[in-house]
Amino acid sequence: MKRISILFALVALAAFAGAAAAQPYPNKNLSMIVPYAAGGPTDTVARVTAQAMGKPLGQTIIVENRPSAGGILGPEQVKNAKPDGYTVLIHHIGMATTPALYRNLRFNPLTDFEPIGLINDVPMTIIGKPQLPAKDFKEFLEYIKKNKDKVSYANAGIGAASHLCGMLFMSAIQTDFLTVPYKGTAPAMNDLLGGQVDFMCDQTTNTTSQIKSGKVKAFAVTSPKRVPSLPDIPTLQELGIKNADVGIWHGLYAPKGTPKPVIDRLVGALQEALKDEAVQKRFADLGATTVPVSQQNPAALQKHLKAEIDKWGPLIKKAGVYAD
Ligand code: ASP
Repeated sequence: MKRISILFALVALAAFAGAAAAQPYPNKNLSMIVPYAAGGPTDTVARVTAQAMGKPLGQTIIVENRPSAGGILGPEQVKNAKPDGYTVLIHHIGMATTPALYRNLRFNPLTDFEPIGLINDVPMTIIGKPQLPAKDFKEFLEYIKKNKDKVSYANAGIGAASHLCGMLFMSAIQTDFLTVPYKGTAPAMNDLLGGQVDFMCDQTTNTTSQIKSGKVKAFAVTSPKRVPSLPDIPTLQELGIKNADVGIWHGLYAPKGTPKPVIDRLVGALQEALKDEAVQKRFADLGATTVPVSQQNPAALQKHLKAEIDKWGPLIKKAGVYAD
């Protein structure tokens, strides 16, 4: 009798599991992998996007941080995840710069993923710790040139947006300085606020509130035009610094082999999310611009990724920066 009831329970369980699997996608929570520390700029974009995409999908998208210097472990994890639409990756320009920077990268951005779509563009800001004596960019430049053996620049490791910006800035002002790598600019910001490092270049999604509350000194923005939410900060170009403009873009990816109907569902959810005025306003308040709907799709992301790899690869190789 006992054996019969166990058998019955097992059959019922199997039928239940089968029914759940047969339910249309998505029938459980999704994971969005962020390759940097919680509380940083990529994490902020991820949380806004994940929450808004969850609504049309009718499921929660859980943001999971997989921090590593240069953000190279997150993509690897997603490459190896089951291609069933329950794991997606959010990443920035690092998807395009890491192939030239790492000799042993264990993923290929162009062939190991199914692109979903572009999300937004984010300018960067050059900021300094509050204790720096400089009160404007001119004094800041004089200070770092004079103290180049002492000053320290925080970044999120080779391949991070903050690394790229620092590299361009260093070459534009022809001054080398010490760089200190972190697993994201959230921990780097903590050390900057605490005065342990002197300056960094980070996305407005992470620096806007610190700048507005006067907790850090802001010297320049890296976009060709001033950022509407930070109108008092001059551009590098206005300050006479050429060839250091950099804009950070974000994209969403699934593992290669994720079925087309699932990708279509994710693209639809992304477009639905980015149409939301509250999402656009949240990004704008943080200095970011939501990409037009024509770019919120797989073809546009793949094209942009390829163009950015082709743009940055030769520049990085020329600069001779490598990591293993
Ligand atoms: N995006 C990185 C972060 O979220 C930082 C970077 O790329 O510099 O921390």
